[in-house]
This record gives sequence, structure tokens and C-alpha cells, in this order.
Amino acid sequence: MVSETDCLFCRIVAKEIPAEIVYETDRTLAFRDVNPQAPTHALVIPKDHYPDAAALAAADHGLADEVLRTAHAVAEQEGVAGSGYRMVFNTGPGAGQTVFHVHAHVLGGRGLTWPPG
Ligand code: 5GP
Ligand code: ZN
Repeated sequence: MVSETDCLFCRIVAKEIPAEIVYETDRTLAFRDVNPQAPTHALVIPKDHYPDAAALAAADHGLADEVLRTAHAVAEQEGVAGSGYRMVFNTGPGAGQTVFHVHAHVLGGRGLTWPPG
């Protein structure tokens, strides 16, 4: 397990910080965002620590694929897959990334405009 002691999401994986978990696989975890921006707003992470999507994609294609498939499974479970949902990887501070453990936002349950701003 690749883990960093001072990483918020590693601490959620380790159950040191509580989160409302909605879906879990051997290598991924999905939990509700503490500050939801839509009726469905979950975060999907690999349990191993990679700082962002670029690092994950460069290091482990299989795990990157599992994160994508978990994100879709969450959308299906939440009942938003049919109406449409958004999967977002903010990558880097300029794109709004604030937690540097790669995560996919899964947003749905309302109309979503584009571009997001
Ligand atoms: P980013 O800005 O890095 O793309 O997204 C980080 C997300 O993590 C934000 O949407 C923020 O609301 C969420 N977040 C920050 N701290 C916590 C926390 O302690 N628990 C949960 N469940 N979400 C958090
Ligand atoms: Zn981490």
C-alpha cells in the first residue's frame, strides 16, 4: 500500500478520518464530498497514494482503469448514470485541485452546464 501519513485521503482510506463511504473495491474507495456541489457528489480515489491523475496514469494503467470503472459504478448506484453525470479530475492548483491525492469527482442529479468555469 502506497500511503502518506499527512495526506487527508490516505487518512480516510486508513479510517483515521470518517467519511460516508458509498462504494469500495479492493483498490478503490468512493465517499461523499463533504461540501457537495450537486445532489450526487462523490469522490473516487485509488487506495494507493498518487498526487494527481497524471501521476496515476503514468504509474498504473490498471488502477487508473479501476478508478474510472468505480466512478461509473457509483453513478449507476446513485441513479444518475442514465440522466448524465460528470466525472472531473482537477489536476494541478491552476485547475482547482486542493487535495493532492488523485480523485475523480462524480457529479450528477441536476443539470450541469458547460464550460464549468
Ligand atoms: P479538489 O479541489 O482537490 O478537486 O477537490 C477536493 C474535494 O475534497 C473538495 O470538493 C472538498 O469539498 C473535498 N473535501 C475536502 N476535505 C474533505 C474531507 O475531509 N472529507 C470529504 N469527504 N471531502 C473533503
Ligand atoms: Zn494520499
